[in-house]
Amino acid sequence: MAVRKILRAGDPRLRQRSEPVPVAEIRSKEIKKLIKDMFQTMEEAEGLGLAAPQVGVLKRIVVVGFDRSGRYPEVTDGLERKVLINPEIEVLPSEKEGFWEGCLSVPGMRGYVERARKIRMRWYDEHEEFYDQIIEGFDAVVYQHECDHLDGVLYIDRLKDPRLFGFNEELDEAPGERSAVAV
Ligand code: ZN
Repeated sequence: MAVRKILRAGDPRLRQRSEPVPVAEIRSKEIKKLIKDMFQTMEEAEGLGLAAPQVGVLKRIVVVGFDRSGRYPEVTDGLERKVLINPEIEVLPSEKEGFWEGCLSVPGMRGYVERARKIRMRWYDEHEEFYDQIIEGFDAVVYQHECDHLDGVLYIDRLKDPRLFGFNEELDEAPGERSAVAV
């Protein structure tokens, strides 16, 4: 396993559309190694999700998950470890939910984004198993953030208001509800 370098905003690879993984290749050595490396890279960076293009691989693969460890106690009890291959998201009629999101590719900053709180997601896991599930709440927000990366979209494109964005240190000192951080 190896920790890979995480690309930062400004790198053109973060703005490209990633390619689907042919189902027959899901269990290949190359993809297995990539997934292991992605988990290790995500854990080392203390993220809760990572998309393959963030490590410079333009394939439609996302890893998510962390244990409740005190990092985000205000928003979640933790997030199940999952590998999403070729995920497809359909936004279902629902209210929007706002979170202060961060991103390993935009380090040290966060911004307020509203997303659908209910989605239908279809994906393959690393064992070539296919899933089709309705997902709600914080998990749905994380999956939408990560899957955006596969289309070259960053959360900074979706800010509710460009003024609701800044450096973590400054936001921590500013008055108001700015502490909840997702992704
Ligand atoms: Zn991100």
